[in-house]
Amino acid sequence: MTEEQNPVYDRVLRGGTVIDPASGTDAVLDVAINGTTIAAVGGGLAADAAEVVDCSGKWVLPGLVEGHTHIFQYVSKVGAPSDDAHLRRGVVAAADAGTAGASTFAAFRKLVVEPTPMRIVNFLNVSVLGLIDFRFGELMNPDTLVPDDALETAACNPDVVRGFKIRLSEDVVGDNWQMLLKKSLQVAEQAGLPLMVHIGETSEPLPIVLDHLRPGDLVAHCYTGKKHGILDGDEVLPAVTAARERGVLFDSAHGKSNLSFEVARRAIARGFYPDVLSSDTSARNWQGPVFDLLTSMSKLVALGMPPTEAVARATVRPARLLGLDAEGYGRLEAGGPAHVTVVEETEPVVLPDASGNSISAPRLEPTLVLHGGAEVETVPWRGL
Ligand SMILES: [Zn+2]
Repeated sequence: MTEEQNPVYDRVLRGGTVIDPASGTDAVLDVAINGTTIAAVGGGLAADAAEVVDCSGKWVLPGLVEGHTHIFQYVSKVGAPSDDAHLRRGVVAAADAGTAGASTFAAFRKLVVEPTPMRIVNFLNVSVLGLIDFRFGELMNPDTLVPDDALETAACNPDVVRGFKIRLSEDVVGDNWQMLLKKSLQVAEQAGLPLMVHIGETSEPLPIVLDHLRPGDLVAHCYTGKKHGILDGDEVLPAVTAARERGVLFDSAHGKSNLSFEVARRAIARGFYPDVLSSDTSARNWQGPVFDLLTSMSKLVALGMPPTEAVARATVRPARLLGLDAEGYGRLEAGGPAHVTVVEETEPVVLPDASGNSISAPRLEPTLVLHGGAEVETVPWRGL
């Protein structure tokens, strides 16, 4: 820039590895930002910048999109903080997966969605109670599934409700799983939204559950080490492959007790990647073993998933599924909002799964987070 010229760009992130699966970009490039918008992605942009941020050796990613978490703090005992466990760790948009039900949704909207400087949507629990306390299954009284309440809440809040959630574990649904699942699918069908189904400790093998699901419905906890998972020995069950082929989606949803490195390693070796790579962060796991979405990503990369595939499943894929791509989430493109997460791979650390096993993997640490161009103050990894 010569003295008499004004800089073209407010800020340029220089020389990072830009991974934007939406556009197929995976190259060392600059990202230029003006105000709230990405002005350009390309080479040699730093000469025209008022401020240059050196990103060499780092990944420059679209702001992360968390497809499955629990952030209904203070009302639900399950809720983790939206800031320290999410936004300040590189997540700019997130879907709460069933923490709120119809009877608590107004509080979710007022206490979480509206004040949080992050884009939040949800899968509404089919039980009006929502997931308020892990100790008491929200559908043990099957009358808490009130279709009219769920439908009305979804219809009145289309900016937030992007699907429904049912937990099918035995300690949540008791003997009524089949009836409750069918009712939930009817609600989802009527609303024109997907149903997310939590597996792990279901009473029946997974293929029996999969038979009920429609294209676009999601199976959460696909790498669970609990009984009735996706594997038979080293192989992915044929019924799981068939369900995927007809459009049923799979969400990794780490959680306190639903990521087994052994299951994930075998499934990844067979090319079975989740459609959504999510953390399932909650009050009981955000200080370990889950920590955050970046840590969940680093675990699956260490188990063999290529980084670009992991990034796609924590950016553009959940953004599309949640209808957030229309708002510019999940991608890095000129003219779009400046949602950016810059990540540095640190020295390897020991990371635990949910089954008592551990691996050594480089941590992914956010060094710069922009949400709509606004810089977010990051926090260090909780495991240190
Ligand atoms: Zn969950």
